[in-house]
Amino acid sequence: MKTVTWLAEINEEKCIGCGTCEKVCPVYAIKMKERKAIVDVNLCTGCANCNQRCPVYAIELIKRDQPLKLKVDVSSVDAVKVDEICKKAKFNPQQIICYCTETRADEVAAAILKGADTPEKISQMTGIRTGCGVECIQPILRLLDAAGIVPEKPKGWQWYGKTPTVWDIPADVREKYNKSGFYFEEDQKLLDEISETRVKKG
Ligand code: SF4
Ligand code: SF4
Repeated sequence: MKTVTWLAEINEEKCIGCGTCEKVCPVYAIKMKERKAIVDVNLCTGCANCNQRCPVYAIELIKRDQPLKLKVDVSSVDAVKVDEICKKAKFNPQQIICYCTETRADEVAAAILKGADTPEKISQMTGIRTGCGVECIQPILRLLDAAGIVPEKPKGWQWYGKTPTVWDIPADVREKYNKSGFYFEEDQKLLDEISETRVKKG
């Protein structure tokens, strides 16, 4: 869940229409029109990516009149399916996968079950990936993959491919490095146990 209190505002006079802000916005909140950037106030999460990268300092962050709440209610979707996606992605459903917004794996799985099929749509619904914008792209891609969705990389947009995990290491590589002190099987067993442990709420 994220409570958004800031909003990007474009200074039209200063904007030179370079389109950089449109390409770095994690929620597709900016569109170019007649070589000027326009912000969708219903989507902007106030993450400041655009503000930090505008070459002519044409973007300011202003306080929202009313905070915007971004949250997917996990109880509104099938809990078994949420668990299935998380398990396949090797996450505990209660695990925080975005520390900037404290978004948990189950909320992202719920967003996917409600139709989000790209990292940007997941960010729009949950607010994830609107802090540092770096750490949580891997868990998002793994959860999408677990749901059978492979989103195409949007042209020119920042996006990082999925990196291998301990489960992806080929058998011959494991065997080779097991001899020199690596513990892939043990690591895998421990991570499997963590992903299946449930913390009682309340
Ligand atoms: S980059 Fe961040 S601050 Fe700028 S419009 Fe998009 S969500 Fe809002
Ligand atoms: S980055 Fe700045 S100059 Fe470029 S389109 Fe966006 S607001 Fe305009």
